[in-house]
Amino acid sequence: RDALDHSLVLDWLRRVSTAMHQHRDHLIHLDSAIGDGDHGANMARGFSAVRVALDAPSPPPASPGAALSAAGETLISTVGGASGPLYGGAFRTLGAALGTEPEVGTRRFAAGLTAALATMQRLGAAVPGDKTMIDACSPAIGAFRAAAEAGAGLPAAACAAARAAEAGMQATIPLQARKGRASYLGLRSIGHQDPGATSACYVFRALAEAAGT
Ligand code: ADP
Ligand code: MG
Ligand code: MG
Repeated sequence: RDALDHSLVLDWLRRVSTAMHQHRDHLIHLDSAIGDGDHGANMARGFSAVRVALDAPSPPPASPGAALSAAGETLISTVGGASGPLYGGAFRTLGAALGTEPEVGTRRFAAGLTAALATMQRLGAAVPGDKTMIDACSPAIGAFRAAAEAGAGLPAAACAAARAAEAGMQATIPLQARKGRASYLGLRSIGHQDPGATSACYVFRALAEAAGT
């Protein structure tokens, strides 16, 4: 499977929603240690709303771009806090980058992911090492793009992204937070895994699963 179509995007977003519900308590636990404890509830609520929007009687037009743009809008309007605008803005940028094509190739998708990362960094002003979701998203999207440029298909590129996200997530543990609520803790943020990097890891894992089926 080398192209991303509408059904793959729906499968991806449904898998993300399932994962956010499955790991809701874990995300709450992580955010309770260095934040305000709502990340699991935020993600579960947001991606439930995404599912509802995509299954609605009048869903968005059947293209990957339209589905992802609608997901972004829904996240922005249903998730407060730091993560809503960041994830919402990223999905909206990704959707806009993919346009209305019914099928999107791996390189085009890589370019969309790169644009989405730029949106997250513009909105949140975080760089890798700040102990945020960027620590999972940046290496994941870098790995996806490198794989795509080397000629890999969607399953291999998504697998590389998921592995890189996982490593990036693990690497947040020893970091001191420099952005978001966790930064208020200063040195006490060290030794805890970042909740947003963890949810980002689920997003890329879900993509690898959807691409691999
Ligand atoms: P809030 O902190 O507002 O309650 P959430 O708990 O839903 O929002 O999300 C927290 C996560 O958001 C953090 O774990 C971190 O990964 C991410 N985050 C916070 N601030 C930023 C930022 N400026 N840039 C990127 N990611 C951020
Ligand atoms: Mg929180
Ligand atoms: Mg909050």
